[in-house]
Amino acid sequence: MSQHAAATGAIGPTVGHWIDGRSTQVEQGRHGRVFDPASGEVTASVHLADPTVVDRAVGSARRAAQEWRAATLTRRTQVMFAFRELLVRRRDELADIIVSEHGKVHADALGEVQRGLEVVEFACGLPDLLKGGFSENVSGGVDSYSLRQPLGVVAGITPFNFPAMVPLWMFPVAIACGNTFVLKPSERDPSAASRLAELFSEAGLPDGVLNVVNGDAEAVDALLTHPDVAAISFVGSTPIARHVFTTGTAHDKRVQALGGAKNHMVVLPDADVAEAADAAVSAGFGSAGERCMAIATVVAVGDVGDRLVPAIAERMAKLRVGPGRLPDSEMGPLITEAHRDRVAGYVDAGVAEGAEVVVDGREVVPDGAPAGGFWFGPTLLDHVSPGMSVYTDEIFGPVLGVVRVPSYPEAVELVNANPYGNGTAIFTADGGAARRFQHEIEVGMVGVNVPIPVPVAYYSFGGWKSSLFGDTHVYGREGVHFYTRGKVVTSRWPDPARRSQVDLGFPTSR
Ligand code: NAD
Repeated sequence: MSQHAAATGAIGPTVGHWIDGRSTQVEQGRHGRVFDPASGEVTASVHLADPTVVDRAVGSARRAAQEWRAATLTRRTQVMFAFRELLVRRRDELADIIVSEHGKVHADALGEVQRGLEVVEFACGLPDLLKGGFSENVSGGVDSYSLRQPLGVVAGITPFNFPAMVPLWMFPVAIACGNTFVLKPSERDPSAASRLAELFSEAGLPDGVLNVVNGDAEAVDALLTHPDVAAISFVGSTPIARHVFTTGTAHDKRVQALGGAKNHMVVLPDADVAEAADAAVSAGFGSAGERCMAIATVVAVGDVGDRLVPAIAERMAKLRVGPGRLPDSEMGPLITEAHRDRVAGYVDAGVAEGAEVVVDGREVVPDGAPAGGFWFGPTLLDHVSPGMSVYTDEIFGPVLGVVRVPSYPEAVELVNANPYGNGTAIFTADGGAARRFQHEIEVGMVGVNVPIPVPVAYYSFGGWKSSLFGDTHVYGREGVHFYTRGKVVTSRWPDPARRSQVDLGFPTSR
């Protein structure tokens, strides 16, 4: 049985669901296994919800929706501030949970909690975010005003690689807008989401406003087809994002589905090579490359590759791979054994197709680390060409490929021909080149001498092309827009000086 397959019974402690403001265990049905990726040991089971459990969570959210929608902006804001305070106090504990199930290093886990926290801080400004417009006297004695109102019950489906941050991209904004929420986190590292729900409850969130159901495709499909779910936010791989978008919209839901990525970092010959090498290593190997904004491909323009590749290799030799809980570790293991083997398969294929291995991480097991951990060392491939699977596919591991191109136009052509359009960066000292790049590159998030340009909480996150299905990006003002619908009221009050009369003409302003 593969590591992703569901075991029939529970092993060890079981991660249950969070429904109606309490932890909910369900005995019967399927369970998945949760691993410590640094040791390869099973540390817990997670119950995999069937449609009945999903229906219980949606039912709880539906019952809570009227009261939450009617809660004053002051009350909602107070609960959000209290949640923010609890997150600040509990960030270390949350990071420990992430490290134990995801494997990333503690500092990196703290970073993801911090970026999620910033979305909560953004959501604390909800009274201002939900303001509408008002126009006095659009016609004689007539005023018009606009409102944004919540959708009702909305759901979020999230990936394994940011078990706290990506859920925090979604539910604080949705709940601030007056919706109730059902979250389906990744079954591979489910515990952080449950803890977030518990903390929100402690902050005073009424029961049922936030529910967490654990599960796999069965739970996702139950949400996508549930008649009481008004909208779906999804973050994960492109094939599943496409499925979520087509199925959700076919069931009349509003859907934003963020998919996978293959991010390019273009380095021009005038770039500061030391800075570019630091950036490539940080963005290529942080979180073992398991980030949708990781740099997967360095596009070396002109002769810069001859200086850049040795500089990257020199820095890679100093990276400390090890268990995430050890303070010295800079890069942890991969999420599962199957994923580790898949990443190794891509490197094997790249080598067979003619890429040059500059640094080989295939046999790396850190000193003193349990051999059963899902280890894979940082790997650098030079002379990668666009036809190779190591270039075309999202590997989602610590593998950096270098594609060499003769000049700037070929670099732009390469990036724009790629089906993904999540993030990209240009490294150059030439402001004109950078300006031209941000104008002509077909990618949603662009860095200028910044390798991981994840927008801050008051902008919005989202890619183009196969990296996002739907129109709206997550969090920031676009998040508020996604989780609300507009209404415009045209109003006239009795005026003793005005005589009403029948008028069959189309209303025009007078
Ligand atoms: P995944 O697509 O396997 O899983 C994402 C979610 O979908 C999980 O909750 C999972 O349970 C569910 N799911 C899995 N298979 C399903 C199926 N057949 N039907 C319905 N639901 C299913 O992704 P992952 O491996 O957890 O995460 C890594 C992927 O997420 C990478 O492709 C990465 O680029 C992407 N990602 C994208 C962003 C972004 O913002 N664009 C951010 C983070 C991660």
